[in-house]
Amino acid sequence: LFITFEGIDGSGKSTQARMLADALRGAGHQVVATREPGGSPGAEEIRALVLEGDPDRWSAETEILLFTAARRDHLERLIDPALAADQIVVCDRFADSTRMYQGLRGPGLRKIVDDLHALMIGREPDLTFIIDMDPAKGHARAKGRQTAEERFEDFGTELQEQMRAGFLDLAKAHPDRCIVIDGDRTADAVAADVFDHATARIAA
Ligand code: C5P
Repeated sequence: LFITFEGIDGSGKSTQARMLADALRGAGHQVVATREPGGSPGAEEIRALVLEGDPDRWSAETEILLFTAARRDHLERLIDPALAADQIVVCDRFADSTRMYQGLRGPGLRKIVDDLHALMIGREPDLTFIIDMDPAKGHARAKGRQTAEERFEDFGTELQEQMRAGFLDLAKAHPDRCIVIDGDRTADAVAADVFDHATARIAA
């Protein structure tokens, strides 16, 4: 089973991904916990290439290419082998993040993300938790995390709002795999909710 967590910066999705992985292990499952951008040595190098240094170094198009390359490596080396071995993969961000973060930054970009995805990735999660959060609150929560803050300032409040709406639209378009979770609660309350949905899906 392939489970992903999505949402804007500061939504708490990384905490939730970690808590779900721990809880599933506690319940006796074999779990591989990973993240994007990154997740394999090569993909982590690409993450550093994009997220560290001059923020204007890459265009949105180039970021799409780099993140898709990173995803392909992550898939080949970690995700596909784990799924083939019947392990549960819990991934903090996946293709939906590229659809929003890069795909919403200009006309035609979302199509590039989707076309490249069809060509080079092809895999969708079985279950995606969209941790929903007001961008202003998320921004306040992400304060002190340098990359998140820089990206927030770069993208601006309007694009953050568009990304939130985009994630919610995605959930409507793919109700089979997406579950929207209210992230504006204590981590434990959110985690309990997430765990219930995940165990129901595992049992199904
Ligand atoms: O989720 P995480 O905090 O690891 O993401 C690191 C940074 O990369 C975040 O600030 C996020 O805004 C940015 N990011 C991005 N495009 C993606 C995924 C993440 O700009 N597709």
